[in-house]
Amino acid sequence: MASKAFNAFAMAQTQFDHIADLLDLESGTRELLRNPMREYAFNIPVRMDNGEMKIFRGFRVQHNDARGPGKGGIRFHPLETIDTVRALSMWMTWKCAVVDIPLGGSKGGVICDPHNLSMREQEQICRGWVRQLARDIGPLRDVPAPDVMTNAQHMLWMLDEFETIHGMHYPGLITGKPVGMGGSLGRTEATGFGVIFTLREALNDLDIRPEDTLASVQGFGNVAQYAIRLYNQIGGTVTCVSSWDQKDETSYSFRKKDGIDIDQLLKITDRFGGIDKSKAQDLGYEVLSGDKWIEEEVDILIPAALENQVNAETITQISNRVKVIAEGANGPTTPEADKVFAAKKIFMIPDFLANAGGVTCSYFEQVQSNMNLYWEKDEVLGKLDVKMTSAFLAVNELAKKKKLYMRDAAYVIAINRVAQACKDRGWA
Ligand code: GLU
Repeated sequence: MASKAFNAFAMAQTQFDHIADLLDLESGTRELLRNPMREYAFNIPVRMDNGEMKIFRGFRVQHNDARGPGKGGIRFHPLETIDTVRALSMWMTWKCAVVDIPLGGSKGGVICDPHNLSMREQEQICRGWVRQLARDIGPLRDVPAPDVMTNAQHMLWMLDEFETIHGMHYPGLITGKPVGMGGSLGRTEATGFGVIFTLREALNDLDIRPEDTLASVQGFGNVAQYAIRLYNQIGGTVTCVSSWDQKDETSYSFRKKDGIDIDQLLKITDRFGGIDKSKAQDLGYEVLSGDKWIEEEVDILIPAALENQVNAETITQISNRVKVIAEGANGPTTPEADKVFAAKKIFMIPDFLANAGGVTCSYFEQVQSNMNLYWEKDEVLGKLDVKMTSAFLAVNELAKKKKLYMRDAAYVIAINRVAQACKDRGWA
């Protein structure tokens, strides 16, 4: 999605092939896991506010459901492609497996730009997406959730359409629902907080106090905002954050040497995470070009935007001070950049481990929806911390024991679990 030459699915397959070789996976298992089980691509006709009819292209890819119903978000993005959705569905399979929740991997998307769509038009896209898939998703089959530029409101429209079609309530159909409408407390915070739970453990392992660290963050959407908040709470300072500017169709980095103030920035940020440049300048922020976030003299980099951001080109700009990368986004680092991190012994907390807090909380949401009994926020976040911490510790232990790069160790655990489930079912 980020550049024409980059193909996220090719990258996901490269990562998979590397581990399949390492594990000496049988050819049948390899073939099964390197491609999605099922894919849906379809048109969504929408009557626009100006009376015109417009057709939007929608996707759902179900990569693997051997360990449980497919699970994964739906992205609204103008540059969405089927290959990006394929990659993301595969990463969802590994994500659910590495945190050991009983779910498989799926992903969905629609080629559209919500910045230019009214709420009514977005509602029609959500309902149209569900109408196309009404028989192919479900609480026991494939369970969508929010992702880039979709939120609780979109989930509720989708749920409402599904329940209208099937004539019954199915709160387990979808997660990331509004609180009070089947949603879980803590779900909004979960992905960003999860990134910091794993970062906290990494710093502990490296014997570095969070209070002594600086971080730079790419992106200012849901994941970044809550990651920054919790990182500040454990004592860290964020000196730079980048955000997308819709008007200029480019991103900018916002830098404050003594630390950005999250509450102050949120007051001048739109609902897509776009920070107002001139207001930020008035508040004393340096406004720099969008790629500057990666050059910051910091200890920690948190890419929390889109895929292909840390690649062969951008990695040359990273400061020697950087010790940890915590991937809030899906697929931000390419295999070429991974090689550099591995050679420099920079501690990598890979995407499908670092950002698994969202889907883990989605699983808690399903459990609560099924019981029709909802937990307090502290209980949800406490359980999330336990799950994320134990997944991190298991990956870190394996990485140390077998001298593996952290991404590879996470892959070994996840792929082994999924391959075993496929074998046990007689699929491989
Ligand atoms: N979209 C989130 C992710 O990429 C959450 C998925 C979910 O909750 O199902 O992990």
